[in-house]
Amino acid sequence: MTSDREQYVLTLFQPEDAVLQGIRNEIRKRGMPDISVHPLVGAFLTFLVQVHGSRDILEIGSLAGYSAVCLARALPRGGHVVSLEVNPDYVVVARENLHRAGLENRVTHMVGLAEQSLDTLDRQGRRFDFALIDADKENYPVYLEKTLKVLRPGGIIAADNTLWGDKVWDPTVQDESVAGIRRFNEMAAQHPALKSLLCPMADGLTLARYLEEV
Ligand code: SAM
Repeated sequence: MTSDREQYVLTLFQPEDAVLQGIRNEIRKRGMPDISVHPLVGAFLTFLVQVHGSRDILEIGSLAGYSAVCLARALPRGGHVVSLEVNPDYVVVARENLHRAGLENRVTHMVGLAEQSLDTLDRQGRRFDFALIDADKENYPVYLEKTLKVLRPGGIIAADNTLWGDKVWDPTVQDESVAGIRRFNEMAAQHPALKSLLCPMADGLTLARYLEEV
């Protein structure tokens, strides 16, 4: 859902382009869940990666490649995205969409549970300077802990849906997704090595900077 306020911003500053619209159409055509990042969040991620100068990006939750396009198109020459996804069928669609966007060489997918892929990346000594967390919400606290093991000091973590339909502050809502997001936001706010903020954009985007010195 895009509010009138969000539509004003998008129309004036960064309307969703044909590539991104094409991915949304493809998702609907194939009956996949329509849960890509909001266009405003996508545009913001592109801006953030450019400003930060990130080269090595980790994405947790690929779906059809919408956010991967937003991240990969912001990379400098030689930059790369590693995207983690449990559903192999989604990875096929994501790779087709990245191919159409001319970005397939900038994104590698790892198929499997993100929790395990993160351990593999750590064992391989892979390190990143930007991470997008956007998979199953109950595991957000685990993803934060494991991402911190592979994030370079000075790196940035962005986590989507951290207001979760405004349920996150409603004490009457107690399900696993809400609990995961609440815990994640508390960890991001209180972790001594993180400087964080929850931007109330779209469904909420928590941003955390991994401090170089604590
Ligand atoms: N970031 C994508 C975008 O904006 O284009 C949307 C990702 S969608 C919200 C969440 C994705 O996480 C789904 O494709 C789902 O299959 C994947 N997922 C869910 N649980 C997972 C897990 N345990 N490990 C890896 N991926 C998972």
